[in-house]
Amino acid sequence: MRKIKYIVFGILILFFLLWSRCVNAKFITQTQIIMSTEVTIIAEASFEDIQKAFDVIKKVDSLMNDYNPQSEISVLNREGKKEVSPMLREVILKSIHFSRITEGAFDITVGPLVRLWQRMGYERRLPTPRELKDTLSLVDYQKIRINGKMIFLEKKGMRLDVGGIAKGYAVDKAVEVLKKMGVKNALVNAGGDMYCLGEGPHGKWRVGIQHPRKMNEIVGIIEVKDKGIATSGDYRRYYMIRGKRYSHIINPATGWTVQDIPMSVTIIAPDATTADALATGVFVLGPKRGIELINNLPGVEGMIVSEGMQIVKSRDWHKFEH
Ligand code: ADP
Ligand code: MG
Repeated sequence: MRKIKYIVFGILILFFLLWSRCVNAKFITQTQIIMSTEVTIIAEASFEDIQKAFDVIKKVDSLMNDYNPQSEISVLNREGKKEVSPMLREVILKSIHFSRITEGAFDITVGPLVRLWQRMGYERRLPTPRELKDTLSLVDYQKIRINGKMIFLEKKGMRLDVGGIAKGYAVDKAVEVLKKMGVKNALVNAGGDMYCLGEGPHGKWRVGIQHPRKMNEIVGIIEVKDKGIATSGDYRRYYMIRGKRYSHIINPATGWTVQDIPMSVTIIAPDATTADALATGVFVLGPKRGIELINNLPGVEGMIVSEGMQIVKSRDWHKFEH
């Protein structure tokens, strides 16, 4: 009798191991370059379903990429008004929401400042006070007017730049598509802006947080399920002017790029759009005001790495630490 029990138990374990191997085997990984970044999808899904998820990311890119003069955002920026698609409208509305909760630290009207700093990078100089003042007068999210599908930029020369939120939004849209196909487990990662749906092949998804200076080291691992994660750092994209590093994130209050403090901000949020926008916003706010904001937002956690590898974490960050 006892022997039979052991045998049954043994067969059950064997069955479970085989079954979990089959489950593992169903994960597919695919990578494409979209939005000037590497987008990777790992999903327990068919090749076709993953393709559909990539398609929606390409759709977001085609609407919001301002390198393409034909994109909706380029036309809006050129003409100062445009009837836009529901997707661009949603990104603009969400951006305004994040401007409000970050007291203007996150602001998609930074477009003219982004252009100014790009030019400074080429000309290898810093902006004059006059240049800064003139450009700053074009930056204010309260001057975006929305009337139904129409978007108006109230001041001539204003430009929207959704670089701080569009990747997160595209990730969320891709996850929506996967969910609609019945996919339960997936990871969609657009260059560090990601969403972890369900679980990975070996349990909860684990995400390593990159050391902002030593490119092959990590400063921690988090374990998540159904969460958006984003990191804004000063180490991947920046301008070098006279041997000094100027980050690609700009403080809309001063017009200056954010320097030295912090080096990287990682946000865990209920969705990737929130994580992406808040990572950029908190980068501008800095460690003190940034952590205060995060601690006041339900469902949002964050970790900020500053100069000298000083690390601050939000109240419940530790619950996700591996
Ligand atoms: P990455 O693109 O490296 O993931 P972010 O998500 O932080 O980084 O986005 C940075 C981009 O956001 C910049 O390249 C610029 O296009 C835009 N941006 C810069 N400063 C701000 C700001 N204060 N608010 C909103 N967007 C910004
Ligand atoms: Mg961002």
